[in-house]
Amino acid sequence: MALQMTAGKNPSDIRAQNLRLLLALLVRHRQVTRVQLARATGLSKTSITNLVNECLQLGLIVETAESRRAHGRPAKYICLSSHAPQVIGVSVSRLYMTFTLARLDGEILSLHRHAIDARLSYETMLEHIRTGIAALMEATTEAVVGIGISMLGPVEPFEGVLLAPQNFMLRPTVYPIAAPLRAWAGMPVQVMHDVTAAVLAERLFNPGRSEANFGFLSLHAGVGLGLCLNHALYQGSGGFSGELGHLSIHADGIPCACGQRGCLERYANLDTMRERQHALEPLFR
Ligand SMILES: [Zn+2]
Repeated sequence: MALQMTAGKNPSDIRAQNLRLLLALLVRHRQVTRVQLARATGLSKTSITNLVNECLQLGLIVETAESRRAHGRPAKYICLSSHAPQVIGVSVSRLYMTFTLARLDGEILSLHRHAIDARLSYETMLEHIRTGIAALMEATTEAVVGIGISMLGPVEPFEGVLLAPQNFMLRPTVYPIAAPLRAWAGMPVQVMHDVTAAVLAERLFNPGRSEANFGFLSLHAGVGLGLCLNHALYQGSGGFSGELGHLSIHADGIPCACGQRGCLERYANLDTMRERQHALEPLFR
């Protein structure tokens, strides 16, 4: 059970970091023993006891009765409580919005998707998101503690802002996403570029099979690249590592809504490549 993370070092965030480690293990294995938890996190026996006791008191986890195993000493397993808080995920593309209610260990409890008009207004987009989230909240009896939104870019992930998207929304301008939804829902809202979210999911749900360093290239109406470097999500200092499509390859090239000229995705998006394929077809007959 190799877990490529280190236990929290800074006293101010050590509690949150250790909780993240426990949840990451539950995502991967659904149940763990205290011994496995100690081995995977490097935490001391006392720290494990404190962490487990706190999570038990919060109603986050349950510990199974001691089971007698065929080999070794009997062990109790730590699992996520069925009454643990839940989270909501929203995926926004040019064609669809998808809404997911999930447990903290990633198990999907409910999912619905509906088509959207790519040329929608800012207020309409926020209304679609609020309506989808409200429907999931009404459908659950457990507390919902956070919302994650994955969307096409360019996205500034720290403030949760959509920046002048191509072929999406009415105008190529700045659209705050996280702040208005945070104020409305009264809980944390994290907005992320969809390629970055894909890398995070690969790391979280497929840790044994994903490489230490890999990229996720997305090629649709835009071009995005999510990066995992040395087992960790890489977003870059400005959070724009996913914006491969806005790398200029031609200083005097086609103007882009981002303000530059010659951005890669003005040449390498699917529609352009499809058009060029037709133009080149006669040469191959
Ligand atoms: Zn651009």
